[in-house]
Amino acid sequence: MSSGQQTDSSKRHTEGLLVKEFCTQRKSKCDPCGNKYDDCVKNGPAVAAFKFPRAINKSGGIEVQDISQNAHHILCIAEVTKVISKDDDLRRVLANTKYCVNASVNMIALPLFSHTVHWYCTYDDSGDKQTIGSMVTTLTPPPFVNLPNHCFDHGRYNKEVETTLGKLKAYVKEAVHKFETNELASALDNISNGFRGKLVKRGLREGGTHTAWMAALNRRNDNWYKPFSLAKNPRERAFPRRSKRTMDRLVKALLNR
Ligand SMILES: [Zn+2]
Ligand SMILES: [Zn+2]
Repeated sequence: MSSGQQTDSSKRHTEGLLVKEFCTQRKSKCDPCGNKYDDCVKNGPAVAAFKFPRAINKSGGIEVQDISQNAHHILCIAEVTKVISKDDDLRRVLANTKYCVNASVNMIALPLFSHTVHWYCTYDDSGDKQTIGSMVTTLTPPPFVNLPNHCFDHGRYNKEVETTLGKLKAYVKEAVHKFETNELASALDNISNGFRGKLVKRGLREGGTHTAWMAALNRRNDNWYKPFSLAKNPRERAFPRRSKRTMDRLVKALLNR
């Protein structure tokens, strides 16, 4: 990824496939559909515009890059490709199906946990800061409040998507002779909408991300991580304490901008 634009933190960067008009291609603009998956960040809602500065080591010293929020494929490219596109038994159905994994119905902009930390602790314009526990934090919620963070439990989330797609596939195979054109595409879109709804609900666990953040600072909620997770069953996490060394490096780099 060039110019500090991190678009999908999924570790499994499957290239995807194009089977007739069934597209799961991981391309900044897929052909022939013409969808740009990063549009949900670049031309997305205002809540997606907040970036965080990351200090990186360059040969000439430390450099700061502004890191965008991530374009998350609600039905992940790897899972749709593996479960649907690569199954030869589905070729006849796919031949009648016009679908694109990069269409806006399947995209959502999500912050990384680094955006969360930057908003609360190090961003000048997020409001007055107070020391709570061992951290200096604003009391103002971020614009992307109550959205799960893209780096929390993506693998577990992918498994859920894979399971759901597997069930859909079983149904399609059973119905293969009477399946109507684009019935599969609308089923996939419905599943996208369903998982979008799940993500919205998950971001509200424990009273939402802001309530959970504040409670974690006060050490009053051991389940603080739940609204930050993409997954139904989040992995338990300790509340992070940012290392002073990382912060010192960042501040030094920012001052040299
Ligand atoms: Zn993702
Ligand atoms: Zn496409």
